[in-house]
Amino acid sequence: MDKIANLIGGKKQPSASARMAPIFNPATGEQIAELPLSTAAELDAAVAVAKAAFPAWAETTPLKRARVMFRFKDLLEQNADRIARAISAEHGKTHDDALGEVQRGLEVVEFACGIPHLLKGEYSKNVGPSIDSYSDRQPLGVVAGITPFNFPCMVPLWMYPVAIAAGNCFILKPSEKDPSAAMVVAELLYEAGLPAGVLNVVHGDKEIVDAILAHRDIKAVSFVGSTPIASYVYATGTAAGKRVQALGGAKNHMVIMPDADMDKAADALMGAGYGSAGERCMAVSVAVPIGGKTADALIEALAPRVRSLKIGPATDREAEMGPLVTKQHLDKVATYIDKGVAEGAKLVVDGRGFKLQGYEGGYFVGGTLFDHVDKEMTIYREEIFGPVLSVLRAGTYDEAVELINAHEFGNGTAIFTRDGDAARSFADKIEAGMVGINVPIPVPVAYHSFGGWKRSIFGDHAIYGPEGVRFYTRIKTVTSRWPDGIKSGAVFNFPTM
Ligand code: NAD
Repeated sequence: MDKIANLIGGKKQPSASARMAPIFNPATGEQIAELPLSTAAELDAAVAVAKAAFPAWAETTPLKRARVMFRFKDLLEQNADRIARAISAEHGKTHDDALGEVQRGLEVVEFACGIPHLLKGEYSKNVGPSIDSYSDRQPLGVVAGITPFNFPCMVPLWMYPVAIAAGNCFILKPSEKDPSAAMVVAELLYEAGLPAGVLNVVHGDKEIVDAILAHRDIKAVSFVGSTPIASYVYATGTAAGKRVQALGGAKNHMVIMPDADMDKAADALMGAGYGSAGERCMAVSVAVPIGGKTADALIEALAPRVRSLKIGPATDREAEMGPLVTKQHLDKVATYIDKGVAEGAKLVVDGRGFKLQGYEGGYFVGGTLFDHVDKEMTIYREEIFGPVLSVLRAGTYDEAVELINAHEFGNGTAIFTRDGDAARSFADKIEAGMVGINVPIPVPVAYHSFGGWKRSIFGDHAIYGPEGVRFYTRIKTVTSRWPDGIKSGAVFNFPTM
């Protein structure tokens, strides 16, 4: 059985841990690899290597660091297909969806290529007589990233290209459910010329996360995952004196106004609700049609589309949706569907019991559609993270806005309409970090930043883009003058200009 190694000091190093996690092919249910869950001592070794690499890497000119990123970008392009296959083998998403994830990660590398410009500080001449002042942004040291299963290539790339280009050294702890794609990508960064020790990958579970949060030499932690763990990581990491950004779960609503083009809205909901089997933090899991007529038309448009979803393994290039990631997750999603029925929602399309011929052991669930969901139901309040779309009928636009603003999560949201006034007011008033206007999955491009509001994020910085540069650097401001500008005599008053 293939055993996945750590990557420390630029070399693959097998873990000595006796604790193992099985890795499955979710399309078949077969175990395909074994992941040793590293020990705290192995993390210590990785941090020591990263700490030793930091001074020289921080001193390397930003232009040279950027050149490594340019080569990395080329290698990602050349290897996109191989990375996508590694993603699908353990995650289960379709090949084209995996290629999309590689592309969106690569775009953060493109952003990081601009690091000489991004690190440029500010300069003010004559802030006082013969006194000049400038500020620049300096790297923090060794920083860490802890990532979820659902984007095993893209989410690590949200973090370390920016951190490393800014001069930091990085420890990555990928998801223990699908760790291989992160390894393929990290090795490509070394192929691009990264000096040994600047990026290290240490696999593991809660034990390694806790060791990261407690480690004195780790200055900052980026986390992406579910809200309970994000909240824990933020509280524990900040209590240990670290800078932490922790992005959590979501319940993304899409409002469908009476004037929306119903076919286009339904198509958008199919991709946003069922793409990647709903395992996206920006998946739309609640549709909010305004008015009974809109709701009836929406259900009429959606139901046949959901029934005819093409579900299959990633090797089937016609498939629109793959399996869920693990058997436990499949059971969890099925339990949510049971709860929706028990709590009185109308099950329009039932995905439970879906079986694919030849893949009976796979973790497949069919597309599921609920109508007449209300805001007290468990399937509305909690994140399901599966191909389950709830339709919650609202009487008015104001009611929809109130509903969304009252939800605990505030990651993304969207409105489909032809009414510019409604769209503008929605973008202004809605309490979510990312808003789409006739765009169902408004994931910001790499040169903006990604982040939700409310319990979808803990910490003050969104991830990647300009916010990423701020997170991974600290500002230093220098005030200087030269002997000609210094007047003789001591001054005891607080300096003013
Ligand atoms: P998860 O919270 O279970 O795991 C995320 C990371 O935390 C993994 O590396 C895991 O090893 C670690 N972890 C798990 N349990 C832990 C514990 N008890 N203590 C310490 N560390 C622990 O999340 P997941 O199931 O891998 O990913 C799905 C979740 O991630 C969803 O909630 C989804 O919305 C969220 N997500 C959010 C974003 C975003 O940008 N907001 C993006 C992607 C995914």
